Amino acid sequence: MKYLSTRGDGTLRGFSDILLEGLAPDGGLYLPTHYPQIDSAMLKRWRGLPYAELAFEVLSLYIDDIPPADLQTLCKATYTEAVFGTPQITPLIALQPGLYLQALSNGPTLAFKDMAMQLLGRLFEYELARRGEQLNILGATSGDTGSAAQYAMRGKRGLRVFMLRPQGRMSPFQQAQMFSLQDANIHNLCIAGVFDDCQDIVKAVSNDLAFKRRHRIGSVNSINWARLLAQVVYYVAGYLQATRSNDERVSFAVPSGNFGNICAGHVARSMGLPIDKLVLATNENDVLDEFFRTGVYRVRSSAETHATSSPSMDISKASNFERFVFDLLGRDGARVQALFGDAVPREGGFSLSAAELAPAAARHGFVSGRSSHADRLATIRHTWQTHGEMIDTHTADGLFVARQHLQPGTPMLVLETAQPAKFAQTLVEAIGIRPEPPAALRDIEHLPRRFTVLPPQVEAVKHFIEQHAAAATAATAATAATAATAATAATAALAEPTEPAAAA
Ligand SMILES: *Cc1c(COP(=O)(O)O)cnc(C)c1O
Repeated sequence: MKYLSTRGDGTLRGFSDILLEGLAPDGGLYLPTHYPQIDSAMLKRWRGLPYAELAFEVLSLYIDDIPPADLQTLCKATYTEAVFGTPQITPLIALQPGLYLQALSNGPTLAFKDMAMQLLGRLFEYELARRGEQLNILGATSGDTGSAAQYAMRGKRGLRVFMLRPQGRMSPFQQAQMFSLQDANIHNLCIAGVFDDCQDIVKAVSNDLAFKRRHRIGSVNSINWARLLAQVVYYVAGYLQATRSNDERVSFAVPSGNFGNICAGHVARSMGLPIDKLVLATNENDVLDEFFRTGVYRVRSSAETHATSSPSMDISKASNFERFVFDLLGRDGARVQALFGDAVPREGGFSLSAAELAPAAARHGFVSGRSSHADRLATIRHTWQTHGEMIDTHTADGLFVARQHLQPGTPMLVLETAQPAKFAQTLVEAIGIRPEPPAALRDIEHLPRRFTVLPPQVEAVKHFIEQHAAAATAATAATAATAATAATAATAALAEPTEPAAAA
């Protein structure tokens, strides 16, 4: 399997070449040259496979430059009951006949991002060891991505993580989760500023190409193809659990922000997995719902981006969306370049004609909807009172919109993207009960914390990276040890806000 860019660069690259890359050199996103087809015989063979084996089967269709035995070992090490809480890894919970939650949030950080990030950590470690290279991951986050990345990369050889966060703008639980990591290769940098400051600093550092090359700076954001690929697996797993025969179809409802989760659904459907509808759910930040209703893609400004009670979906533009538009427009790279390389940066968006938009629903199965804070509260309350299930605010967005698209005879699987304990305050507002985190995490808020406060200045962050980064070539054990001891540990308490602000 080879990969190409959505913006017309047709240079064919292997999986291992794009694994450690972010954007393609022309600014586009990587996609496979074609989607391998899943046929009925394959589905039959896959029924009953443990999740890790299923992951190996699906990944093997897209990865031909890692020896199969190694890939299998990586999958088996990643998808274990010890890490994901259940032997099924993504079990279905029946709410009523034909309506299920698919649990994706039983990983270490209690959000679905662990599903892909845990595998990515192992793939990165494997590939870096194979090349004798090191990688310094730099990112900005105020949502779940950062902690999922840190939990996936902690203790991994060849990898260091520098994660920037706005000081004080996280829930107490999120802070505890991130700052309690004691691993020497994980650096929490609290920036005395807001999320935009963090993102600007990451951009500035990444734009300094000499610095980037010298320190081998990489990223783990949601545009990484390997993350998307790992997510395709749970669509297959959900399908196999909800059906008995391969003639049956199911629909998926997906709480969406950056279009990463549902893009994996689009890939699964394009591979021939019998999916009827892909139901895209947004919160008040409805960039994507607007697109699927009208064909208008209008990026929002920061001022127009609402801070909602489902904060991981508070996005102003959807970074993975370009992949779908590439497929929607018949893989016309020049057109995608004109839309995303030109119209989006210059005019803040674009609009497709009705004829161009039509295949989104007719051919690709997309429908959409949005929900409000009141809708989430009502959905959380109803689900608790009627079904005895506590759901988080993001899953509530998905379930609310899913209910508008139920069709008799077609099971609907709502992807459960986070645990309610992460958003305890809204749960209290909805049902008057504070959800408990899983036992293993209950004491997390009392653990010692490790972070460094830096001013919102590019130079300060560069200086910190210089002091703590792994060398561009294989670092000696001595270098790594020095970096570890030099790591600054701070224990001051941070201001604790109510709920987290914007997502990353
Ligand atoms: C990241 C996230 C989302 C949005 O997923 P995308 O892939 O960005 O569309 C939804 N819910 C939760 C809990 C998340 O962490």
